Amino acid sequence: MIKYIAYCRKSTDEPDRQILSIESQVSELQEFAAKENLKIVSTITESKTAKEPGREKFAQVLEMVERGEAAGIISWHPDRLARNSIDGGKIIYLLDTGKLLDLKFPSFWFENTPQGKFMLNIAFGQSKYYVDNLSENVKRGNRQKLRRGEWPNQAQFGYLNINKKIEVDKKRAKYVQKAFQLFATGGYGYADIRKFFNQNKIFNKSGHELHLDKVKRILTDPFYYGVMKFCGELYEGKHPPLISKKLFNKCQEVVKLKSRKVKNNKHLFDFLGLVKCGECGGAITAEKHTKYYKRTNRKVEYIYYRCSKKMGACSQKYIGKDGIEKQLKDIVLRASLPPHAAKKFLEWAERDANQEKEKSTGIVSTYQLQLKETEEKTDRLLEGYLDKIVSPEDYQKKKNELVESKSLLNSKIKEISQNGAEWLEPFQEFVNSALAAHKIARAKNSCHDLSIMAKTVGSNFFLKDRRLSASFKKGGFDALAAAASATSRPLSTSYWQTVVDSNHHGQLVRRY
Ligand SMILES: [Zn+2]
Repeated sequence: MIKYIAYCRKSTDEPDRQILSIESQVSELQEFAAKENLKIVSTITESKTAKEPGREKFAQVLEMVERGEAAGIISWHPDRLARNSIDGGKIIYLLDTGKLLDLKFPSFWFENTPQGKFMLNIAFGQSKYYVDNLSENVKRGNRQKLRRGEWPNQAQFGYLNINKKIEVDKKRAKYVQKAFQLFATGGYGYADIRKFFNQNKIFNKSGHELHLDKVKRILTDPFYYGVMKFCGELYEGKHPPLISKKLFNKCQEVVKLKSRKVKNNKHLFDFLGLVKCGECGGAITAEKHTKYYKRTNRKVEYIYYRCSKKMGACSQKYIGKDGIEKQLKDIVLRASLPPHAAKKFLEWAERDANQEKEKSTGIVSTYQLQLKETEEKTDRLLEGYLDKIVSPEDYQKKKNELVESKSLLNSKIKEISQNGAEWLEPFQEFVNSALAAHKIARAKNSCHDLSIMAKTVGSNFFLKDRRLSASFKKGGFDALAAAASATSRPLSTSYWQTVVDSNHHGQLVRRY
């Protein structure tokens, strides 16, 4: 009597839902064996794809047959045994050499005869053909679509799939735009952006609030400035962009800052990685102390920051968290704009931009010329690649660069023809950041945001003798801070009225 091995397989990525689960394959085979009076000596299951050779358990089956421990295999269908020519070939070879005497499939007829082996070969071949065909068709279809500038998947949040095209979702798009603008200021976290969506009743398709991961995916997807990222490669999209590349890049800087925060995810120590020791240049570390008050029977936690003294001897003493927080708030506040001043600046900027709009036609044609050159370069690169002068790696790298610079030029042209001036958007961003800085500097329990905002407005934070110093970022924040230092009462409304009236915005605007 032939001894059989029952082999069941279902891969996790199997697209065909009709394939039985491993458990039901096992019970089907047991039933089948009982009915046909077959003796199963071992049941082996595996959850791996059969597209590529190298399945461990399958190799074990073949070894058992080689060693003569079994001479038959039972499986649901030949495609459970092999979906590649190597594994299929091994089975046929074992049949040819007589080590394998029989194969049984509840869903496939097999007899160990030349005709049976021929049919089996075809079954293996068909399985392979099915797999090859499926992935090849999908890949080919995707590549063609991408090259045409079409997105092969479901439309991004803020867009809709209409008649096989990607169209702007008028209801959601403007909120997505605003979300990028808010996030770029550095004063808003992912949760704040979600809150902003919620407040405006912008939800996902099933009517629920967006998942935080989703918010993050939106804010990091180049799709929104017109470039499609698919399997690591960039393609120019035909869909209308919602934001400029510059705004997108700004957001990526903020994303980087936020993820650095997550890395040293010690919620308590928000200012780590921001400040260095002013005496020895060493890193500042933080520690938590708990103090017990007997009289009132309560515990209070204190957080201290101090020089790590890893650079050698240093005489600096610790400073409490509140001490840093207060000074940091002062610094951020000096580089900030209160709402009424921000509003004025934005009004002026808009007015100036409109005046410049008329002068901008010349600039646009320069960009259009550059765009044409980039397109020619892309063509030449493709020719070089097709002639095998350029390697696939170089081609992809270079092509990505060209796609990016093309999209930058396009967005510049669009921006100028829409807004009239290149400086307007960055200037608006700057004003919005300064406004967010104002909000954060005056908020309570905002240490996390405060730390991020500090990096937005300044750098080189040093702590010496419990005093915090910083340099303000050039191109706006330094000017605000200088203006704030020039007066003793930087917060009063009358002060801002003077700044605004003395036409400081001219200075600021010229920097952009
Ligand atoms: Zn030190």
